Amino acid sequence: MPERSESESRKLLRRLRDSLALSGKGQDRLDRITSLIADSMRTEVCSIYLFRDPDTLELCATQGLNPEAVHKTRLKMGEGLVGRVARMASPINTGNAPSERGFRFMPETGEEIYSAFLGVPIQRVGEKLGVLVVQSREAREYSEDEVYALEVVAMVLAEMAELGVFVGEGEALSAKHTQPVLMRGSTGQEGAAEGHVWLHEARVVVTNPVGDDPVHETERIRAAVAQLRVSVDDLLSASTLDKDQRQVLEAYRLFAHSRGWLRRMEEDIMAGLSAEAAVQKEQSAARARLEQVPDAYLRDRLHDLDDLSHRLLRILTGQGRDTGAEMPENPVLVARNIGPAELLEYGRKLRGIVLEEGSVGSHAAVVARALAIPLVIHADRITTEALNGDHIMVDGDNGLVHLRPEASIAAAFRDKMAMQAKAQERYASLRNLPAQSKCGTVTGLMMNAGLMADLPSLESSGAEGVGLFRTELQFLIRNQMPKRDELARLYARVMDAARGHRVVFRTLDIGSDKVLPYLKPQDEPNPAMGWRAIRVGLDKPGVLRMQLQALIRASAGRDLSIMFPFVSEHHEFMMARSHLLRELHRERSLGHPVPVNILVGTMLETPSLAYAPRAFFETTDFISIGGNDLRQFFFAADRENERVRRRYDVLNVSFLTFLEHIVNRCAETATPLSFCGEDAGRPVEALCFAAMGIQTLSMRPASIGPVKALLRRVDLIEARKVIEMARASGAETVRPAILEWLATQVD
Ligand code: PEP
Ligand code: MG
Repeated sequence: MPERSESESRKLLRRLRDSLALSGKGQDRLDRITSLIADSMRTEVCSIYLFRDPDTLELCATQGLNPEAVHKTRLKMGEGLVGRVARMASPINTGNAPSERGFRFMPETGEEIYSAFLGVPIQRVGEKLGVLVVQSREAREYSEDEVYALEVVAMVLAEMAELGVFVGEGEALSAKHTQPVLMRGSTGQEGAAEGHVWLHEARVVVTNPVGDDPVHETERIRAAVAQLRVSVDDLLSASTLDKDQRQVLEAYRLFAHSRGWLRRMEEDIMAGLSAEAAVQKEQSAARARLEQVPDAYLRDRLHDLDDLSHRLLRILTGQGRDTGAEMPENPVLVARNIGPAELLEYGRKLRGIVLEEGSVGSHAAVVARALAIPLVIHADRITTEALNGDHIMVDGDNGLVHLRPEASIAAAFRDKMAMQAKAQERYASLRNLPAQSKCGTVTGLMMNAGLMADLPSLESSGAEGVGLFRTELQFLIRNQMPKRDELARLYARVMDAARGHRVVFRTLDIGSDKVLPYLKPQDEPNPAMGWRAIRVGLDKPGVLRMQLQALIRASAGRDLSIMFPFVSEHHEFMMARSHLLRELHRERSLGHPVPVNILVGTMLETPSLAYAPRAFFETTDFISIGGNDLRQFFFAADRENERVRRRYDVLNVSFLTFLEHIVNRCAETATPLSFCGEDAGRPVEALCFAAMGIQTLSMRPASIGPVKALLRRVDLIEARKVIEMARASGAETVRPAILEWLATQVD
């Protein structure tokens, strides 16, 4: 950048900062800025448009356009040149604005006489705040230096906006982070929670966007980048990395060592920004590019850059992850995303979790479920909106988040929580009673678990045992393969904590959405139907055998229940079982005590197994229907895909008829049958499953109370009749008929 424009832009920034330092209302400041910029850049017009709401830009200050239009002229995102700048998050520079695509004539502003138009986005790390525009009569394009200077000014405005300098009575910006916000996301884990925001990644606040001494600021950025490079190199030299992890980190390193990145930041500093603001400017530009890139690989790389910028800012500001802030009371964790191990570190002290990204089947969701913490995912913009300590209410049932709620909303929410608490009290009183329906049928209610942290719920929920212990969670939360002895100790602790209650251990179910960080990911076109669960166990039996040994050792002669996941045919079950028999034999010959009673079961998660030969039903000691997977294959509807996962009702007659077939096959061979998918924990579904003849249901501990309460209220024979009638009537789903019947049932 030529020396002339460097000092021009530095001068402008300094004037800007001095002007902002003067006291005054937000509107006065905006007005002063527009005249200052117009004067410095020698253009006739300078205007600032800010977002009123996420889709509406409003002219908030102008020098040169009709002042009457201020706070009146509004544009939608993408509308007119200003709206296009905002949408694309990149500048528009034209010498002939009226001929430009998308130009929209706004007569109230009087801008028709200005030909030249330059608009740049005002944005802060992915958050769109507005658009800064200069215009002039002369039909000319602004020079590259002028575009750059205006971008630098916009960057400072964004930082200032974050610091709240434009907030005032007038009609300028409303104070940031003070308004109530309702966010609609998706349910990750049901439940309601009220508390205060705790940001997983503390916001780094840049208080000094303008740099006075470019030499000093350049030294600072160089030193910080050098420190960052060393830390990335250290990561790379870790001996535990496999080839793929190394490749990813190499790409990361490439960015850290990129000369272009450092050069651009140095240029920003020469233009008058502080080192921190220079990092933010490049980060914002990268984020804006990210939004335009459809290619997943490239997006990942840009994410790397984002992450590096964060690290760099932390180095510069000295604000580490631990900012010294105190975790508020009743913390609700807010993050873009979080890994399972990090989430476990927070543990049960969290009241709720809100993620900007994440998915229903993500490891974080699995852990949140295990800890029974309400979780909302896909809460757009939550990390930019929320501040540490903000009042927040999480409605996990409906995937809603109320940030800084108004009093009336908060009151209604608390009523809902109180009702839920009352219901819980009622359920607690049923804890030691059986789930005996009026017809006399007793349905077994067990709980699903996966972590040691789950086990206390066995007592409090009144579950008869653990119907599904998902052993993969122990593998998912580590960054290396657990050792056999470590697992044996853990399984022994689980059995101890169960105090004689049955625990059904499911062998490792990885693949599909459950990817172990230390195993080479498989590049599969359709992982849900790919190399997963028992398929991996049989093809590479080392881990399966190690796990079976750990289970046998943990039992130390106690009763043991093991089941194999995702079995599709009889042969697979027999192979898996033979591994177990071999390990039993080996352990016995080593002189270790082995269980006298060992039950070996199967998860029925693929429709094919329902049609396996009779010999299968005779050999397996029990069957547990994995409804989450079975349902996705039965309806061909991906359980991870928000668009389709709720599309088909599990009380659809076709699905119930299929369940009936499984019940009948099990009855022929007296094979015990249970259901352990999520649907078992929904009272109406649970009632229908029990009415269809499923003897045991395994669910989240919090669901046991509601399910038991309903089962005790009804006659399953009557319920079955209702189902049959609905079926005979040609209904697609029995839900309406069952609900109608339930409404007539009194306590
Ligand atoms: C299921 O598929 O229903 C099941 C219980 O297993 P998971 O949800 O762990 O795949
Ligand atoms: Mg499954």
